[in-house]
Amino acid sequence: MEHDNPHAFNTLCIHVDEGADEQFGAVSTPIFQTSTFRFPSVEEGAARFASGKGYIYTRLKNPTVSQLEQALARLEGGTACTAAATGMAAVSGLYFTFLGAGDHMVGTDCMYGPSRLIMEREFTRFGVQSDFVDTSDPAVVERHWKENTKLLYIETPANPTLKITDIAACAALAHRHGALLAVDNTFLSPVLQNPIALGADIVIHSLTKHINGHSDVVGGAVITKDPALGARHRKVFTTFGGTMDPHQAWLVLRGVKSLSLRVLKAQENAIRVAEFLAEHPRVESVYYPGLKSHPQYELARRQAKGPGSIIAFVLKGGYSAGVRLLNGVKLPALAVSLGGIESLIQHPASMTHSGMTPQERSDAGISEGLVRLSVGCEDLADILEDLKAGLAQCGAEGHRAGEAREP
Ligand SMILES: *Cc1c(COP(=O)(O)O)cnc(C)c1O
Repeated sequence: MEHDNPHAFNTLCIHVDEGADEQFGAVSTPIFQTSTFRFPSVEEGAARFASGKGYIYTRLKNPTVSQLEQALARLEGGTACTAAATGMAAVSGLYFTFLGAGDHMVGTDCMYGPSRLIMEREFTRFGVQSDFVDTSDPAVVERHWKENTKLLYIETPANPTLKITDIAACAALAHRHGALLAVDNTFLSPVLQNPIALGADIVIHSLTKHINGHSDVVGGAVITKDPALGARHRKVFTTFGGTMDPHQAWLVLRGVKSLSLRVLKAQENAIRVAEFLAEHPRVESVYYPGLKSHPQYELARRQAKGPGSIIAFVLKGGYSAGVRLLNGVKLPALAVSLGGIESLIQHPASMTHSGMTPQERSDAGISEGLVRLSVGCEDLADILEDLKAGLAQCGAEGHRAGEAREP
């Protein structure tokens, strides 16, 4: 796949905000830490309100935030972007802008939990209906399509099995019905996957993950292919109020400079880690789109430039093996989130999905020994050695079972 710009992607990431400071020529985009902007005259103030051009008030638009928004639009091949305070503000704002009473949405069943929960628990109060289905099968999406379906919202790859949804097929389907396709591109980032080039109308990001990449800020973004769609979204979202703060934007913009370097290095590590895990006697199965054993290996190769750096794997020995591995490893931070420069590891059964019963987890495809590893940019040998040592603590299947607390 080609990027619609004259530079290769890494060069684009590094130079994406060049010339942002015309006044002093600062190489790093300045932080415009101001809530409001002085109008030189009544006429100029009136002109800014009338045209929407220029700066009025930071909730509406701020120069540092604008630099980040323009950068993200370019990286995703879109025409407009609105940055949000968090990834969830971006998701909620997407629903709030493009759905209303009497509308229906189809979404990926295993998408990021809160993106599904806010729709099912809160948007129902406003008369929005939804179905969360296995979008990896376009026939299933078609079967759940309704006369009032306005939005198809997919996440690919998606937790916990790194299931892939065919973006181009979904775009064709949504457009045939006059609806919009939105894609949560958080897992792969624009370095590896460009949903707009594949036909999507809207791209969502949790900037908290790869794009910022340093586990030090939360943020989100909505990028649109069509300027009118972007203008509509900005108008609603800036009033909704979940917009980004300039200091946050500056941090994320700094992350963007090294985005390509980080994503490619982490992926290089992840490919080797996935191969190592697939061979390991204490590992039952590995979910990673870069392994030929992934059921959608070919689709993943076709629509993305690489498999990324998130690996899910199931340990033999279930819950207690998961607990022992996570207590046994020293290098990856025992933490939720993903896409940081450091490796992060989490055990859904004891952490993110501990509120569910083992049966509910099993129904959702989350087995007790499932572990999610977001591979970082450390030296590969160190990651492998640490995992080896951690896996040695897991015990053989059934061995020492009951030592760790069962749910
Ligand atoms: C983290 C995440 C979100 C939510 O982002 P926040 O910044 O935590 O609000 C949405 N989608 C995906 C895929 C995520 O990983």
